[in-house]
Amino acid sequence: MSVSMNNSVLIIDDSEAVREKVVKTLEAFNLFSRFYEAEDGLDGFKKLLASPVDIILCDLEMPRIDGFKFLGMMKSRPELKDTPVILLTGRGDRELKVKGLELGASDYITKPFDVEELVARVKVHLKIKNLQDDLKRTNELLLELSNTDHLTGLFNRRYLMEALGKEVQRSVRKKSNLSLLVLDIDHFKKVNDTYGHLQGDIVLQRVSQLLQKELRTYDTAARYGGEEFIAILPAATLDEAIFVANRVRTAVQGAKFSGDLSELSLTASLGVANLTASGVRTVDSFIKLADDALYRAKANGRNRVESAE
Ligand code: GH3
Ligand code: MG
Ligand code: MG
Ligand code: MG
Repeated sequence: MSVSMNNSVLIIDDSEAVREKVVKTLEAFNLFSRFYEAEDGLDGFKKLLASPVDIILCDLEMPRIDGFKFLGMMKSRPELKDTPVILLTGRGDRELKVKGLELGASDYITKPFDVEELVARVKVHLKIKNLQDDLKRTNELLLELSNTDHLTGLFNRRYLMEALGKEVQRSVRKKSNLSLLVLDIDHFKKVNDTYGHLQGDIVLQRVSQLLQKELRTYDTAARYGGEEFIAILPAATLDEAIFVANRVRTAVQGAKFSGDLSELSLTASLGVANLTASGVRTVDSFIKLADDALYRAKANGRNRVESAE
């Protein structure tokens, strides 16, 4: 079994001899790179808070804060809930073992312990702990991915609304410029009808790239819906945003496609709004303003930029 050597263990026992034997045993099997020792529950808890570990071996009977109290203290800390505790108990303490397991211990080992059994049990719980840690990292990654639109790689609507909420607040507080740009591909339904949905997806990806390319690094581009995109332009005046929007429009109009799409000529319409100039203060009304401008761009013939007055 491959156990990462980058593991740490805390051994809590009032007997120095027991601690020493446990450390020597675990050292011999190369399971850990760091060892912490404590002589009672309180000492152990302090050391645990100072340096989190991957597994804890804990005596039950100790002066002052014993193993049961230690388990109770661990429960008060949510960040410690996945750290396994293996109890070190005397041979006959059946009831104590049961009580310890009920209090949250993962397992127990009977003293005087058998070396191979100790190592085997430690390995099992270390493996579970490492798998749990991997799972946590995967979940964090998934959360990160859920900010992203999978087809285009741009931010998704959920993230956009969150980011826009913050930007609107900041702009209102600091009286700084904030512009919004809404883009809708012209006659996109016809692209799908003519070339098929998969080719339509390729077009969406290309438009995303063109949009992203025309923005500054601190602008945020998102896919707002099917073939609709929104970009947040912090610190941009209305004129600056109109300028950017026209650059995006020109880039879409000039895009050359290859393969099945080589005959396609694509255009997009854009609506632009500026928070400061318009006096609106909420995300919804801000988006509505840019959307109304987009609607006028469509009504006025498409392949155009219109802005909120
Ligand atoms: P307009 O110029 O008025 O915007 O016309 P339009 O055809 O672009 O507008 P409409 O909203 O009627 O059509 C949008 C189309 O976008 C309809 C829908 O099938 C397509 N669409 C939405 N999401 C996707 C997607 O993820 N992939 C593909 N290929 N098509 C999509
Ligand atoms: Mg439409
Ligand atoms: Mg459209
Ligand atoms: Mg649309």
